[in-house]
Amino acid sequence: RKRCFRISTGSKQWDSILNEGFQSCSINEVYGEFRCGKTQLSHTMAVIAQLPKEKGGAEGRVAVIDTEGTWRPERIVQISERFGIDSNAANENILYVRAENSEDQHEQLCGLAEPFASGQYRLLIIDSIMTHFRNDFHGRGELNERQGKLGQHLRKLSQMAEEFNITVLIINQVQSDPGASALFASADGRKPIGGHVLAHASTTRILLRKGRGEERVAKVIDSPDCAEKEATYIITTGGIND
Ligand code: ADP
Ligand code: MG
Repeated sequence: RKRCFRISTGSKQWDSILNEGFQSCSINEVYGEFRCGKTQLSHTMAVIAQLPKEKGGAEGRVAVIDTEGTWRPERIVQISERFGIDSNAANENILYVRAENSEDQHEQLCGLAEPFASGQYRLLIIDSIMTHFRNDFHGRGELNERQGKLGQHLRKLSQMAEEFNITVLIINQVQSDPGASALFASADGRKPIGGHVLAHASTTRILLRKGRGEERVAKVIDSPDCAEKEATYIITTGGIND
């Protein structure tokens, strides 16, 4: 059996509540309000995944499926500088794909099996998992169909995580976000969208929220091997940090 590994978040405190990072061979979900740093975490981990193991990395390539158009190679340059690696090489080690709709998102995922077969990839990021599923299906009438398609997508994702020994990081929104369907509105506004299908697929779930001042807070909500602890972090030019 392939040995699983963990990839650092860039914050020592955040890593400590995760037993040193997000684990390979499984789906890790990070969800929270706008501007909590979900996309910044994605960029930070895309750089860290390339670092040596003693620096929290996995010495691997990274694939990114972008559904929101928020990927910025310039951020990879800045974060690379923090970690002292060549920024052009860092961007070249990231396979970027843009998914136009939920069907395209699934096809793009299936298409990654070929590059992943090289054995060079250690991290797959989807930012964000529900955008298209939320937009392509409407109301209660299409909810079953949506959840069926979503389930198919997530099964493929977890199968690929195990087969290729990669860490999967999926970004998700909370129900209170503007644009998230009112159908799923909840009083606390801190629930991820995607229902039971997504809850079942995610091995580890992390909730992000704003803290005092520039501080942000990450909380373990659901994990097979981590307690429900909180950690604070900040967003810097060099990415997620303490
Ligand atoms: P989310 O994806 O959760 O909506 P983002 O990951 O886009 O949120 O994070 C947005 C936050 O990141 C903003 O508060 C912004 O100020 C901060 N941010 C973005 N780029 C930088 C940077 N270069 N230096 C410091 N903070 C940044
Ligand atoms: Mg974002």
